[in-house]
Amino acid sequence: MDINPITEEAENIVFDAVLALVTPRVGECLACFVARQVDQFGCDSTHRFFLLYRDQRAPRASALLDRLSAMGAYCDCEMFLNAYELAERFWKPGAWLPGADGGEEWWDPEPPEKAPPCEGVRRGSTKPCTIWERIARG
Ligand SMILES: [Zn+2]
Ligand SMILES: [Zn+2]
Repeated sequence: MDINPITEEAENIVFDAVLALVTPRVGECLACFVARQVDQFGCDSTHRFFLLYRDQRAPRASALLDRLSAMGAYCDCEMFLNAYELAERFWKPGAWLPGADGGEEWWDPEPPEKAPPCEGVRRGSTKPCTIWERIARG
């Protein structure tokens, strides 16, 4: 694929300017912040929003990326594939519903379309608030 370096650089500058405006809300936790930003800007396969959060809210959390990687979160969006998901109480429960063939069809539980508001963490914490649950594996 041909990449035009000038366009790409211009895009990076614009993006950097946008990112400069991106700040965690007061008390907002790491997970809610990253979820909100990935929703808006997408994931670029790096930890850019984690780092943004850490730099602004928890600059001493130097082991943060190691901890995330250990949980399988090798980029911003993977946090929500491998490490944390919205707590079960927010999901639409799965159910057996009548299917087209007259039988019953299983509908998997569905996450809410919009994440509930952050329940907040104390300053300096890199823990997700209580709307998030660790994804159980195995
Ligand atoms: Zn990603
Ligand atoms: Zn939160």
